Parts: sequence; C-alpha cells; structure tokens
Amino acid sequence: VVGCAVAYALARRGIAALLLEAEPGLALGASGANSGILHTGFDSPPGELETRLILRARALREQLMDELGVSSWRCGARLRPEGEAEHAAVARLAANALLNGVECRLEADGSQCVPGETVTDPVAFVHALAGAAQAGGASVRLNAPVMGLAPGPGGGLLLTLAGGERVSALAAVNCAGLFADEIAALAGDRPVEIYPRKGEFLVFAPPPQAPLREILLPVPSELGKGVLVFPTLDGHVIAGPTARERSDKRDWSVESDAAEQILAKARRMWPALTGVEPVGAYAGLRPAGRAGNYVIEPSRSLPGLIHAAAIRSTGMSASLAIGEHVLELLATAGAIERGSRERRLPAPASPGPRAWWERAAEHHAAA
Ligand SMILES: Cc1cc2nc3c(=O)[nH]c(=O)nc-3n(C[C@H](O)[C@H](O)[C@H](O)COP(=O)(O)OP(=O)(O)OC[C@H]3O[C@@H](n4cnc5c(N)ncnc54)[C@H](O)[C@@H]3O)c2cc1C
Repeated sequence: VVGCAVAYALARRGIAALLLEAEPGLALGASGANSGILHTGFDSPPGELETRLILRARALREQLMDELGVSSWRCGARLRPEGEAEHAAVARLAANALLNGVECRLEADGSQCVPGETVTDPVAFVHALAGAAQAGGASVRLNAPVMGLAPGPGGGLLLTLAGGERVSALAAVNCAGLFADEIAALAGDRPVEIYPRKGEFLVFAPPPQAPLREILLPVPSELGKGVLVFPTLDGHVIAGPTARERSDKRDWSVESDAAEQILAKARRMWPALTGVEPVGAYAGLRPAGRAGNYVIEPSRSLPGLIHAAAIRSTGMSASLAIGEHVLELLATAGAIERGSRERRLPAPASPGPRAWWERAAEHHAAA
C-alpha cells in the first residue's frame, strides 16, 4: 500500500513512476492481510509523525476515496470498559482523541464510541491506488524483485532486478515492507532493523440472529491493542489479531494455538460468536521496526533514495499522506519539483470478487 500510494501521489502530479513488486500480485504482503480498518487516529500519540500522517490521510480520504472508487463503511468503533482501571484508560483515550481532533463520544452505558472508524477492503484499496496511478501514466511490474541499488553512471540511480535487468531512475523510494531493511542495506544504509510481528485472524460467517454493525475494540493495555471484532464489507465478521514477535519473514502460517488466543476474547466482546466456528483464518506480518516505526527518510549513502520503512500498524490508514510526505522528501532532494499541480485520475476497476482475506493466506500457503 505504501508503494502504490507513492506511485499514485507521483502520478497525480504527472511524474512518471515505475512500481517494482517482487510478488506475482499486489497486496500479498501486510497490505493484503490486515484488519482493513481505516483508523481515525483517536488513540495515536499526538504530534508523532505516524499520528500526523494518519490525521492528514483522513482529510485526504474525504476527497479521494470517491475518486478511487473504493467502497468503505463508516461503521464506527466501540470500546466497553469494565472496572475502574479500564474506565480510566478509556477516559485517557477520549482526552487523546480530543488532542488529535478526532470525534469520540461517551455513551450513557459508559462505552466509548469513535464514529469515524471505517472498514474497507484493503486489497481493493491497494489495487485502486495502483490502477489510478497507472491511469495517470505509472507502470506496474510484478515478479520484479529489486536485488541491487547503485548510483547511476550519469547521476540518478541504477536498480538491478533479479535476472540482471537494469533500470535507471532519477530517484527511488524503498517501500519494501518487511524487506525494507534489506533494500536499505543494498545502498549501504541501516535506517532500521525490521522483524515480522505476526497477527492472526479468525473469520466467521455472521450468526444470523445479530449482525455486527460496528467495530468492537478492546480497552488497550500495556500488552498492546488486543483482539478486536469487526464486520467486513463482504458480510463476514473477523476477530483478531494476535501479536507475536517472530523472526521468519516468510512464515505466514496461522499457528496451532491461534484460536485459543483469539476465541475466548472475541466471544467475551461479542457473545453472538459463542458456539460459532470460524470459516477461515489468515495471518499478516507487520513490518515492525526494532528501534521505532515510520522510518521515512532520505538515504544517508545514496542521494535520490528515500526509505519508507517499518510502517508497522497503520500503514493503510496513513498511506495517502505517506505518499504526500515522500513527495516532499523527493522535492527536498531535488528529484522532483515542489508544488506541481495535482490532477484527478479516473477510478479504476476493482480487483475482482474473491474475498480479500483469503488471497494472501492462499498465496503464502502455496509458496
Ligand atoms: C495483523 C495486521 C493488522 C493490521 N491492521 C491494520 C489496519 O486495520 N489498518 C491499517 O491502516 N493498517 C493495518 N495494519 C498495518 C498495515 O497493514 C501496514 O502498515 C501496511 O500494510 C504496510 O505496508 P507496506 O507497503 O509498507 O508493506 P507491504 O504490504 O508488506 O508491502 C511491501 C511490498 O514490497 C514488496 N517487496 C519486498 N521486497 C521487495 C524487493 N526486493 N523488490 C520489490 N518488491 C519488494 C513485497 O512483496 C510487498 O508487496 C495491519 C497489519 C497487520 C499485519
């Protein structure tokens, strides 16, 4: 989603872009195996780059979601605190939301409602960005892993693809998700070490007696954000994710105790799931930075290279603003002109009828 958002931002300004994707399809990384929630930023620490980009992206979506033709459902989210400590935590979240300018309502039953939280189809979102970028002149190449990066003979950069093909570019943006640290190393940089933080989900066919019409969020604790329960646009209900620190960047398996980790929590939050068995499961690997996230900065070694690395947990929500931010960095590096006029790009076709949550899981199981 980060690569596609950068290509889209460039295409909107009429700047030629080439997206090089290692996999045979788009959104087979974290971007296609997440919760599909467009976060408002109500719980993000005020002032941090990640928060600023989430908030900016929210404003950009108001204008661009229709243009991109991506369906979304502003169903809102609810937190139901129990006990003194959780009520205090939710009150802190409400104060945080206020600082970020995000609407957050305390209901009469003591629950906290965030009306702006929205679900979408994350795969359709990525395809829409890429499709619109292509409509604006960008090219997308699949099965095109970048294996080398060097200064170009006459300036700019020279990228080497698997198989030896060379591609020259005025500038390049490293949006390689889990592998962004390895791409950075090709240029002689170590902006951040990236490890996979696995999140597993269980998918349910909705129990007919009570459709879920909002996102149910746990009250966050020191252990993390916890398991949420949310409806999808295609009529399913998903519970997850887990949060497991792992080291194998290619292990997308749902581990044998995932149901144990998720089911009881999910059923406590939404009792309608009691006795209902999952119809599917998938895992996503968050590209987590060892010493911090949202490492978006110019290369220290290779002029013209920008890293957009360790976009761990909110990358889809922030993606439109990440694209804009990267363009600022490219302009500062002198690779593009600042302030070129934006144009509207035609809404592209959607990726097809297959459920988004099945796609990455099947791909990685077959690999
Ligand atoms: C469990 C989970 C739940 C999440 N929930 C949400 C949510 O609800 N809302 C939200 O906003 N965010 C969520 N996120 C976070 C979001 O998914 C990520 O922040 C985002 O997908 C990161 O995007 P990316 O483009 O950096 O990485 P990726 O999606 O991993 O994309 C990187 C791409 O680079 C390609 N690549 C790698 N190496 C090379 C190479 N050498 N050459 C060419 N291409 C290469 C990969 O194949 C991949 O397609 C969640 C993530 C997970 C895992």
